[in-house]
Amino acid sequence: MLLYEGKAKSVFSTKDPSIVRIRFNDKTTAFNGLKKENFKNKGMTNCVISTLLMGLIEHAGIETHLIQMVGDTEQLCHSVDIIPVEVVIRNIAAGSICRRLGLVKGYKFNRPIVELFYKSDDLNDPLINDQHAIDFGWATLEQLDMMRRKSLKINDVLQAFWLKKGITLVDFKLEFGVVPSGKMLLADEVTPDGSRLWDVETGDNFDKDVFRYGNGELSEAYDKLLRRITELPQNL
Ligand code: UDP
Repeated sequence: MLLYEGKAKSVFSTKDPSIVRIRFNDKTTAFNGLKKENFKNKGMTNCVISTLLMGLIEHAGIETHLIQMVGDTEQLCHSVDIIPVEVVIRNIAAGSICRRLGLVKGYKFNRPIVELFYKSDDLNDPLINDQHAIDFGWATLEQLDMMRRKSLKINDVLQAFWLKKGITLVDFKLEFGVVPSGKMLLADEVTPDGSRLWDVETGDNFDKDVFRYGNGELSEAYDKLLRRITELPQNL
C-alpha cells in the first residue's frame, strides 16, 4: 500500500510495519517543484548510488535506514519518523549560500559549514537555527548535536569516496529519522539530486544543477556519474 508519495520517491508499506519499501522514480523537480521533468533511468541510478553510499556510511559506523536494494529501483528500509530538519554540509560555496551571503561560487571554506533548514515545501525550506528547531518541537538539542556530528563524519566518508573518483563534493543535504526506540538513523537518500558534485579537472556538474540551470542533459550526467563510480581503477 502506498503510504507517501514524494517528489522523487514513493514509500510503500510491507507486511512488517517496521519495514517500508521505497521506490525511486524518474521524476526530477527543482525550485520547490516549479520545474519538473522525467529522465530515463534516473530512478535506477539514484537507487544504486544511494544504496552504495549508504553502505559506505554504514561501514563507517553510522546507522542508516537502508536494509537492502530490491529490484532495479527499490530499497527495503527501516520505517522512521523523519525529523523535519534538513542538514546541509558545505565544503565549497554554491547555490543558496552565495545568494544569501554574497559569496563567490567556488570559494573554499576553511572547514565545512553546517546549516539547518526547516523541511517545509509550503515555506520553501527556510534556513533556521537551533532555537527554532527546539522551541517549535522539531528536534531536541541532543538530536541536533547528533545530526551535526554524524553529518560531518558522513562528509569525511563521502568526500574521500568522491575524490577517488575524480569528483569534488561541494555540498549535500541529509535527513535523519527516528525509530520507535528513539534511535536515530540516516534516512531519505544520498544521491546527486541532493548533492553538488563537480569534476575535479573540468569543473563539470554531475548533479541536479544540470537540470536546475539547463546546461546539459541530466540523464547523461547521471549515467556518466554511475560509470565513473563503477569503472575499473586506472592502475588495474
Ligand atoms: N538540497 C536538497 N534539497 C533541498 C535543498 C537543498 O537536496 O530541498 C541540496 C542541494 O542539492 C545542494 C545542497 O542541498 O546540494 C545545498 O542546497 P542550497 O541550499 O544551495 O539550495 P539550492 O541552491 O539547491 O536552492
